[in-house]
Amino acid sequence: MEEGFFCRPIAHIETDFPEKFGIPRQSGRVEEAMGRVVFLPAYRNPDALRGIEGFTHLWLIFDFSQAHREGFTPTVRPPRLGGNRHVGVFASRSPYRPNPIGLSSVRLVRVEEDGSLLCAGVDLLNGTPILDIKPYLPFSDSHPDATAGYAAEGEGHALHVLLAEGVALPCGRRGELIRACLREDPRPSYQDDPARVYTMAIAGVEVAFTVAGNTLTVTSVNEK
Ligand code: SAM
Repeated sequence: MEEGFFCRPIAHIETDFPEKFGIPRQSGRVEEAMGRVVFLPAYRNPDALRGIEGFTHLWLIFDFSQAHREGFTPTVRPPRLGGNRHVGVFASRSPYRPNPIGLSSVRLVRVEEDGSLLCAGVDLLNGTPILDIKPYLPFSDSHPDATAGYAAEGEGHALHVLLAEGVALPCGRRGELIRACLREDPRPSYQDDPARVYTMAIAGVEVAFTVAGNTLTVTSVNEK
């Protein structure tokens, strides 16, 4: 056994997010964001899931695989604070931390016949390595009186989503997912340039949009 901390992926998650831009900023914010946890062959064992159906929610512990960095930076600049205020990395949920380990609480929709786990409310890049899974315990993990510090700032912020003339979102679940993610305001650090065109890859399409005030306008949707 190697010296020090030893950890390896047990699974990967398949999501509709091929790139970081546009992924919800926290788990549970966009219920339409579904993910499938697919176990690596060594962990694909029904015994390891025995009893899991009894839990409505799970904790996914994962590797921020696209945020690996050498060195220690003690502060980060959360996007929700406009990207210009520093807070301590241990007072943040930033991907950029000494050990790039993330923690998401998701709803367990069902255990599939092949033993994969269908989850809702994910905030993960497609292919993110999952390090561990634990059941969410409402009597222990839920703290209704908890305060959220600076993270509560802008909590109610949401954009009004419009479609430019002749533009349509995909039908059904994909369209609902895209609309819900756009409503969350994917722009970095509350950029405020109505002329700027953003593009977001999601659920097999590339969505282009602009934002003026509180209104986001989708200008094109192209299958990728
Ligand atoms: N709920 C988790 C937590 O608190 O540890 C993640 C919160 S983090 C603020 C969420 C963001 O991480 C997403 O919006 C996305 O930009 C980014 N992200 C998701 N998967 C990632 C990955 N595999 N590598 C790097 N960044 C990722």
